[in-house]
Amino acid sequence: MLQGCTAWPEDSARRPRQQGYWADITLYDMLLRSVGAAPDKIALVLGTRRLSYAQLGHAIDRLAHRLLDLGFRPLDRVVFQLPNSIEFVIAFFALLRIGVIPVLALPAHRRDEIARIFSHTKATGYVVADVWRGYDYRLLAAEMSGLAPSLRRVLVLGEPGPNQICLNDLLADDAGRHANTAALAAVAPAPDEIALMLLSGGTTGMPKVIPRTHNDYVYNCRQSGEIAGFNPGTVLLALLPMAHNYTFGCPGVLGALGHGGTAVIAPDATIETVARLIETERVSVISAAVPLIVDWLNANRPQHHDFSSLRVVMNGGAKLAPELRRRVELRFGCAFQESFGTGEGLLNMTRLDDPAEIRFTSSGRPISPADEIRIVDEHGEDVADGAVGELICRGPYTVRSYYNAPDKDAAAITSDGYYRMGDMVRRFDGNLYVEGRLKDIINRGGEKISCEEIENHILGNPKIKDVCVVAMPDEVFGEKACAFVIPVDGETVDLDEIKNFLISRHIAKFKLPERLMLMKEFPTSAVGKVLRRELRQVAAIEVASVHA
Ligand code: AMP
Repeated sequence: MLQGCTAWPEDSARRPRQQGYWADITLYDMLLRSVGAAPDKIALVLGTRRLSYAQLGHAIDRLAHRLLDLGFRPLDRVVFQLPNSIEFVIAFFALLRIGVIPVLALPAHRRDEIARIFSHTKATGYVVADVWRGYDYRLLAAEMSGLAPSLRRVLVLGEPGPNQICLNDLLADDAGRHANTAALAAVAPAPDEIALMLLSGGTTGMPKVIPRTHNDYVYNCRQSGEIAGFNPGTVLLALLPMAHNYTFGCPGVLGALGHGGTAVIAPDATIETVARLIETERVSVISAAVPLIVDWLNANRPQHHDFSSLRVVMNGGAKLAPELRRRVELRFGCAFQESFGTGEGLLNMTRLDDPAEIRFTSSGRPISPADEIRIVDEHGEDVADGAVGELICRGPYTVRSYYNAPDKDAAAITSDGYYRMGDMVRRFDGNLYVEGRLKDIINRGGEKISCEEIENHILGNPKIKDVCVVAMPDEVFGEKACAFVIPVDGETVDLDEIKNFLISRHIAKFKLPERLMLMKEFPTSAVGKVLRRELRQVAAIEVASVHA
């Protein structure tokens, strides 16, 4: 296994293998089975483009050859920052086919995040689009070429910049089509090897890089697909960035492909587009999230569209309120499914045949019989059923380490291999209920914001003496960031100034604080610790008073 990652101890690995949870195939093998089963079936749809499984398989092979020609080799890391597209899927699998490990960055990430990812992963490649939503990634890539000594090749979807390679040309080049597949077979990864790296919405400014193996991720997407009732008839609508574990593998696009279904990639997430695609593509499952669902429920459903194909609307990334879940079922005429999981592994889902009470209130239960869940108090002792405690877990698809980060492992993983999720939950009748959070992150409709990361950036402003960033409630996103700021004596700042300052630090826009509260001092405990809980209360009261 790639150096810097911890494998499951032998006895823990034997069980999933013996019990059949690990199929001992790679993600590419999983796809290949679907290609073999129905080569002419449509695998991917975007706008007027439709790609059959056979076409997808060929495109992957072609690109894999070209990537080998370019010098990519097994276990190289490649920062992968493409918007949702058919090429996202082709390039992802082409890298995997030759054992190269994509590190899935969000399109929203900017120089600060990307530079940290390069410095941590020592990636040799960078895959970007030319321009997307007004942002020119070629310029970012050019900057990275100067900043990241490991970076050798930049691949651009669309028009490349100087010294950058055109991904479309590589895809169009048919020279490798009949080439010796032995070259590809020779570099095919083992199922126990790292397949991809996800980024954690962690609590610090430094990225936590989550290595996922083929075996564990194949299981992750197939097993969650089972629980969502996926089969070759499944037509999944993908709306959120595919770099999110939830959209890509829970069961998401990979789950749809692994079950021989079709993934429809939506060009946008408006109710008009969604309604049109449900009807024209006969969509059966939607992977959605809180802000989208709130939006759709507040919009008038276009009346003339036929939603009869729709079976499931899924929500993940943050909790959807019970009343909204009920309204989803009424409005869309389908089952609602809650998905509560993490890029580090554990995934819980409500079951489609759960009674309404469970579907509408719970956060689901583990997808695997082999998931080991404990809910513990601050001393690590199990709490009684129904009591709130910290969720810790281990199992056949929950990681045993981050990539190259022993200090983070020490904090996040217990000596007996349980991952601390940082969520406060209660278990009742086998179902989990998320009640709160231990970790200092803000969950903005599923996008995670590290309080510490933003505080560190704000402290870079010479006008600021101290800062504390906390979550404030928001009707659409659930939470947003509120910055409590103590300016240096004689100075004052406003929200726009803080936002502009943060933009100048090149961070993702979703992380910007959306409210500013100026303070003279922070409330502190007897030992001088800032009482974030009190600040959260102040922010909540402020938000409520504005809405009153
Ligand atoms: P990430 O690290 O981005 O995969 O985020 C994982 C975290 O998102 C979990 O530990 C939870 O805090 C939160 N989360 C994800 N899904 C849900 C959900 N359905 N309900 C509540 N919290 C969720």
